[in-house]
Amino acid sequence: MTDPLITLHAPDLSERLQCVACTASFSISEVRYHCTCGALLTVERDDAWHQTLTRALLASRQLSHNPLDQSGVWSFREAILSLPPEHIVTHPEGRTRLYERRSLADFAGIEQLGFKHEGENPTGSFKDRGMTVAVSQAKHLGLDYVACASTGNTSASLAAYASQAGMRAVVFLPAGKIATSKLAQAVGYGATCLAVQGDFDEAMGLVQESASKLGMYLVNSVNPFRLEGQKSIIFELLAQRNFEAPDWIVVPAGNLGNTSAFGKALREAHAAGWINRLPRLAAIQAAGANPFYLSYADEFSHSYQVKAETVATAIRIGAPVNYSKAKRAILDTLGVVAQVTDQEIMQAKAAIDRSGLGCEPASAATLAGVRQLVQAGTIKASDDVVCILTGHMLKDPEAVLAATSLKVKEIAPNLQAVQAALGA
Ligand SMILES: *Cc1c(COP(=O)(O)O)cnc(C)c1O
Ligand SMILES: [Zn+2]
Repeated sequence: MTDPLITLHAPDLSERLQCVACTASFSISEVRYHCTCGALLTVERDDAWHQTLTRALLASRQLSHNPLDQSGVWSFREAILSLPPEHIVTHPEGRTRLYERRSLADFAGIEQLGFKHEGENPTGSFKDRGMTVAVSQAKHLGLDYVACASTGNTSASLAAYASQAGMRAVVFLPAGKIATSKLAQAVGYGATCLAVQGDFDEAMGLVQESASKLGMYLVNSVNPFRLEGQKSIIFELLAQRNFEAPDWIVVPAGNLGNTSAFGKALREAHAAGWINRLPRLAAIQAAGANPFYLSYADEFSHSYQVKAETVATAIRIGAPVNYSKAKRAILDTLGVVAQVTDQEIMQAKAAIDRSGLGCEPASAATLAGVRQLVQAGTIKASDDVVCILTGHMLKDPEAVLAATSLKVKEIAPNLQAVQAALGA
């Protein structure tokens, strides 16, 4: 596709779309999600960005009032995407905190356990980090019609960023399978919401067909620009730890966008000399939506597809689109893939909620996974581990109210009733 903007702005020749399977590469300005050979594309750059993006520059951006510097994504812009500043659509996002809670380390059976809370992003999940980049690229290319299929959080995020950019957003949702809060966000931010009578994987197929036939720009995680933005979770985590790599980084795994982005970010941070060893990735799936776990258990001899069912709707995905990139991430980092049951997820979520941090069910798969991997001896009690909490507790209130044993007590409006209820 050609676009008048491309002639106005000299393309940055150092950035290109590169096939993950063959040697083909394409202009960064091409609207394309797959190679002619059918494989996924990644954004690659030749310039030695780390020579510009020094620790001193990063530190100075911490104090700046420029919205790009205040974004936890665009403060790493030399390593994310080079765009004219006027095309960047930023909330800003990122700059999420890193927490430690003794009760949760005890729950997992280890000494030190960190939690980076991506639920602190503007729409309540890490999806904002990828969406700011994909929507900015759409604006740069002059596109104003954007679409995604979503288990909920991607649509909430797209709806917000498209509105900010003045674009029309269409979101394809599996009918009846997304948490009410996420749907309310997509509707409220002003997206056109289509409830597809089918599961997420069917919605995904339909949006791909619709995007190519109806000219909508696709911002699912097949979109390589989203993954560039999600790398900033790792860059920011490393910066928060003074560039001391942890032993393990633990992430819930659905469509495998984060797993893929984390692998790429770690390779790049290592090549840049930011860290001198690679942490190991642990990707945690729900047992009812475990195609990546099945591949891992089979030494990645092939990719699997399952009919997905789990309480953790954000990872209720049976045919993950980023399989090949995520496989590389696990192999490169000597990573592991584990599966946890819905019961283990909800137990871990209860512990996270009661620690005061709170998160949505998919995020709690991380803590359940650490506990299991510690019991199996894969993670040592002395290892330094960081879990990524991907979404906010308020994303899925139904899951809490359905699962908790702490029921709300209804009482008469008088003091005796209060005393009776408190057992006083
Ligand atoms: C999207 C999402 C995931 C899954 O991430 P992938 O990159 O698709 O593997 C996990 N947790 C939450 C809260 C999400 O929104
Ligand atoms: Zn190819």
